[in-house]
Amino acid sequence: MAGTVFVSGGSGYIAGFLIRQLVEAGWTVHTTVRNLAREAEVRASIGTDNSKLRFFAADLMSDAGWAEAMAGCSHVAHVASPLPSNAPKSDDELIVPARDGALRALKAAKAAGVKRFVMTSSMAAIAYGHPRSQTVFTEADWTDVTSPDAYAYVKSKTIAERAARDWVAAEGGDMEYVSVNPSLVLGPLQSGDFSTSLVAIQKLLEGSMPGLPNLGFGVVDVRDVADMHVRCLDLPDLAGERFICSGPFLMMADIAAILREGLGEQARKVPRRRLPDWLMRIVGRFDPVVRQVLGELGKVRDTDISHARQRLGWNPRPVEESVLDTARDMIRLGIVKV
Ligand code: NAP
Repeated sequence: MAGTVFVSGGSGYIAGFLIRQLVEAGWTVHTTVRNLAREAEVRASIGTDNSKLRFFAADLMSDAGWAEAMAGCSHVAHVASPLPSNAPKSDDELIVPARDGALRALKAAKAAGVKRFVMTSSMAAIAYGHPRSQTVFTEADWTDVTSPDAYAYVKSKTIAERAARDWVAAEGGDMEYVSVNPSLVLGPLQSGDFSTSLVAIQKLLEGSMPGLPNLGFGVVDVRDVADMHVRCLDLPDLAGERFICSGPFLMMADIAAILREGLGEQARKVPRRRLPDWLMRIVGRFDPVVRQVLGELGKVRDTDISHARQRLGWNPRPVEESVLDTARDMIRLGIVKV
């Protein structure tokens, strides 16, 4: 199936890959940026058939522009949400745009007669605030936002997905809602403007991390995240579905080993030393970004992705490819000097 689809946040990492795949599959895409002054730069970075791509201005924090951007669209992929690299001053800096932006997009979609609304949620809405003994997660799990483990971004994604589902249940009518819940997204870069999710690879390659913290992430490739969104827009009978979008769980030491194995001499600055948890706790007293993740030390969050495999026919690629493609593009684009 192909028609006209709306994708919010065309300047983003995931949205760029998604827009390319949608245009290749025959869709016409309406996308948003906060300021149309960025249109030419974003078009160049996406690098697809420009005649199939229209830009509109819209901000998650304002009603302006959403109705115009969605006019004529039968499908929506709501991808935009703040993903900062620093810790915000208050949780609301992330929660308000994530939640209110999703509700704005939903209301505009319903008014435009959209049939299917796919929202980019996150593993952050699934796997936080659970006991350490739980190491495997499914779509039935929800993050407990009252837990001390739930930092601002985690809260923002959980609250936004809950608010979206509640709104659809109460007011969505015939519009179908589906969420895609990715883990840490890695993979090739379309430009030097990259998502916060890639910063760990940058720091490992440039040797700016003094050692390897006892931290891990489920990892998924941006091409596979985009592919899951396309399937969720396309396939029939998905109303209310939720799909974990993740490959395997890797500790930082595993990622470092993949970089060394695949890059040889170019990975010479990647640290080998493990950072003890007590040292991370001391650093966390001064560094708010480290403080946010102290509850994560030593935690394992594997995922059961059988639902996406069976229902969508989705299969993620080998994780080594995603880690090494990130690294190679960071070197190629001069983002890191190795
Ligand atoms: P990204 O490159 O930082 O993209 C975020 C997008 O959201 C950008 O287009 C950004 O626009 C837009 N945005 C932020 N605040 C906005 C606002 N107030 N109004 C309008 N647009 C706003 O990050 P990404 O990795 O592609 O993430 C896209 C989505 O995937 C987000 O919903 C994120 O939570 C989710 N996700 C990401 C990961 C990951 O590891 N990357 C994992 C799970 C889920 P500007 O360019 O103007 O800032």
